[in-house]
Amino acid sequence: MAQPLKTEYLMFCPSCVEYTLLHDFDPKVGRFRGEYSLLHNAFTESDELLCRFLLAHTGHLVRLTPNRTDDYGRILRTARRFAEADIDKYVEASLAQKQAAEQEKRGDHNLGKLQLAILIQYLEQEQEEVRRTPAHSASEHQVLLGQELGLRRSIAIARRLVTHFERTYGP
Ligand SMILES: [Zn+2]
Repeated sequence: MAQPLKTEYLMFCPSCVEYTLLHDFDPKVGRFRGEYSLLHNAFTESDELLCRFLLAHTGHLVRLTPNRTDDYGRILRTARRFAEADIDKYVEASLAQKQAAEQEKRGDHNLGKLQLAILIQYLEQEQEEVRRTPAHSASEHQVLLGQELGLRRSIAIARRLVTHFERTYGP
């Protein structure tokens, strides 16, 4: 079955005969996809242009207009597109922001991996020390064995976390 077509919107000010494209509403992030840049083949993915449009038309009776209506087509043909010359720049800024956020996430992931590597090293040293500690009695021997087992488990868990990190975010 074909997916139902998404409703797209524009915001229109009849007094100024100006509009801004909102495209479809994404309920997952709770906002419209925003204006579209042909140059970047991407949407602004932000409310900034809509907010600026509303501010520029303070006190005017603007209206939200859905596509597949006569009104929508007529507005696109006859009205002026708000901040048309700046749309590419807005999309570019939004793409740069997205990239920076991804880089930050990647940085966090590398830091997490580094911390785990240090932790594993500490645990291995600790394990080695326990192994070298001489036992003076059978009960001491039991205690040391228990400690070593605990450390071995901790190392295994930390290694599993590293694998999980790499599977999730890549090596
Ligand atoms: Zn206006």
